[in-house]
Amino acid sequence: MHGTSDRTRALIATDERYGAHNYHPLDVVVARAEGVWLWDVEGNRYLDCISAYSAVNQGHCHPRIYAAMVEQARNLTLTSRALRNDRMPGFLEKLTRLAGFEAALPMNTGVEAVETAIKLVRRWGYRVKGIPADRAEIVVFNDNFHGRTSAAIGASTTPEYKADFGPLTPGFVAVPFGDADALQRALTPNTAAILIEPIQGEGGVNVPPEGFLKRAWAACREHDVLFVADEIQTGFGRTGDLFACDYDGIKPDVMVVGKALGGGFYPVSAALADRKLMDLFAPGDHGSTFGGNPLGSAVAEAALAVIVEENLAARARYAGAAIVQGLRAIASPLVREVRGRGLLIGIELDRPARELSQALLARGVAAKDTHERVLRIAPPLVIDDAAIAFLLDACRQALATLG
Ligand SMILES: *Cc1c(COP(=O)(O)O)cnc(C)c1O
Repeated sequence: MHGTSDRTRALIATDERYGAHNYHPLDVVVARAEGVWLWDVEGNRYLDCISAYSAVNQGHCHPRIYAAMVEQARNLTLTSRALRNDRMPGFLEKLTRLAGFEAALPMNTGVEAVETAIKLVRRWGYRVKGIPADRAEIVVFNDNFHGRTSAAIGASTTPEYKADFGPLTPGFVAVPFGDADALQRALTPNTAAILIEPIQGEGGVNVPPEGFLKRAWAACREHDVLFVADEIQTGFGRTGDLFACDYDGIKPDVMVVGKALGGGFYPVSAALADRKLMDLFAPGDHGSTFGGNPLGSAVAEAALAVIVEENLAARARYAGAAIVQGLRAIASPLVREVRGRGLLIGIELDRPARELSQALLARGVAAKDTHERVLRIAPPLVIDDAAIAFLLDACRQALATLG
């Protein structure tokens, strides 16, 4: 059992006293991290199976990204887009080449990239498709997660994300995730786009039926509707492909990325599209003071290099298969299903997953519940065989104590 001390209790008390209570974190106070491991202020070690919701795919404090950040911080950190900087061009070139798009619009947090995509597809709807003013619709999916701004929660179907935050941004129509017929029926002459996570992360690690994304993509072509993929959590190797859409062999019209693009060091996000679409933005239409800043650009360029050069997608595929196989072999009566792809894995239980989360924490594994009964296992992609064995052992013991 990991102990706590006065120091841990004091830090938690200060956090609770001065901070807003908009999260319910595990009571571990992390002070240091390296690779897949975290250390709390007591010196206890934990295997990180949260990875800041996939923002640290490259592993914590990766030396190459650290070096890029420190080097850049010495020279230039921020100009705003009122001037050009010498780091953004190289970053944009590498990102667009890797993702297979002609252009990128850099932002900071994931939800800002989502907002960028929403504005872009609405504008396309009015200027190209000919949708009557202010009537554009975007089809989204039940249990989606696209972030926390007032527009993004307008797209949400989760009551707690929306309660008493209205009036909500209109123009979103939700259909069941994985239901291609319902999607077909929802597409109208006023539909500008669909906005979809290839695998729903926050919604409970929901993998759609085989072939669903392809059918959704074909429906979009048929109805003159844009396909927007939110790859903020699934992108950059997490699911065993560079992007989760690669698994289905489709190229979205717009792709939004974030999280691991900053390697865990810095918030960097982007909306990607081909030139014809992206050029619907003109100077003054959209922007961000920090978007494309030289510090973030240098960090992101290094973060991308690590994903490619260390073959992290292939590692996620291999490690994910080993973990899923090991979890299924435990055969606990508490487990309803083990699902996922690559290193985005969900364990669905017959009870609140918070109980398993606590039992794992006591055995040195940090993993969190999502959507009540699902425990998400999503370690940094650099996890090795010894850490996989440690994780499976902890899961076996934790499930045994709960059963
Ligand atoms: C995390 C996440 C977002 C929001 O990203 P932030 O950086 O928290 O704004 C949007 N979409 C998906 C799929 C995510 O997982």
